[in-house]
Amino acid sequence: MKKTGFYWDEKCFWHAGGNFALTMPLGGNVQPLAAGGLPENPETKRRMKNLLDVTGLLAKLDTQSATSAQTEDLARVHPMDFLNKFKAMSDEGGGELGLRTPFAKGGYEIAALSAGLAKEALASVLQGKNKNAYALSRPPGHHCLPDFPNGFCLLANIAIAIEAAKAAGLGQRFAVLDWDVHHGNGTEAIFYDRDDVLSISIHQEHNYPLDSGDIEDRGEGAGTGCNLNIPLPPGCGDATYLAALEQLALPAIRAFNPDAIIVACGFDASPFDPLAHMLVTVDGFRQMTRQVMEMAAEICDDKVVMVHEGGYSEAYVPFCGHAVIAELAGSEIDAGDPLEAAVTARQPNARMQAFHQDLLAEYAQYFGL
Ligand code: ZN
Repeated sequence: MKKTGFYWDEKCFWHAGGNFALTMPLGGNVQPLAAGGLPENPETKRRMKNLLDVTGLLAKLDTQSATSAQTEDLARVHPMDFLNKFKAMSDEGGGELGLRTPFAKGGYEIAALSAGLAKEALASVLQGKNKNAYALSRPPGHHCLPDFPNGFCLLANIAIAIEAAKAAGLGQRFAVLDWDVHHGNGTEAIFYDRDDVLSISIHQEHNYPLDSGDIEDRGEGAGTGCNLNIPLPPGCGDATYLAALEQLALPAIRAFNPDAIIVACGFDASPFDPLAHMLVTVDGFRQMTRQVMEMAAEICDDKVVMVHEGGYSEAYVPFCGHAVIAELAGSEIDAGDPLEAAVTARQPNARMQAFHQDLLAEYAQYFGL
């Protein structure tokens, strides 16, 4: 029986750089944190992988590393002069291009490996080697513009994976569902004028970037209508996220009829994230995964690939990730939610949920769904 692929590499956890406290550069009045650095650090990812290991779920998966994305793969998305500059800076000891994207010596190779994990995960599912897959890519990718890395994202992992799959003749049309709490501005920009990639982003409105992700941004030229932004106010919980999938994102994906659904899987919509203000629980992520899988069963032969994006609660993210991967694998192994009582009690009340529901109904009308 085909297994769920789990693509990871210890080397991706070695991506490092930057003198920051949260996203504030050190200096002046900003004291260094004891734990140090940007919130995008290895710990969340490593703890997630470790949890899969201790519960025994990892042993049920087809666990692999991948070949790094090659220059040819990267160049389908990023201009060569940007790649050359990135490589030279990386060889010389590291630095920073763009915004909040510091890297150390060898950062270029690690970013190419991160993209390679996404590329191979998608290829293996399209080729039928894995029934579905999760790529624990790091650094993340969904904010990265062709020539401007930002928001911890150094290369556009998902776009690189899609272009590689298309070049290899493995698929023609792809839907990207981005439930990272921040706007997938990189994916949006790369595919904005294209009708072969549906780009959907559910995010906290104007969280990051501060000025993108508006509902009116629907794509341009041939891509008009192929970009859907679903901005939500702070404080949305499981019910609103599930309704946003059920009423907006999944009907749009069904109508688009892709060869595979790729989820830009961030866990920063969780209640404990330092960079956002949403209330999605372990069970919420599990149910969202189930919804996506049901849609994939209906339209694209179960082909779902998840690529890790953000999520900065070191303690809580591993449980969210475990639930998602157990669902992908159809496994009974359950790490539970140690904070279930608290996160359940803190869900928005009926009045707030009605407000959110009205907003989604307005959006559905706007999208013609
Ligand atoms: Zn994020």
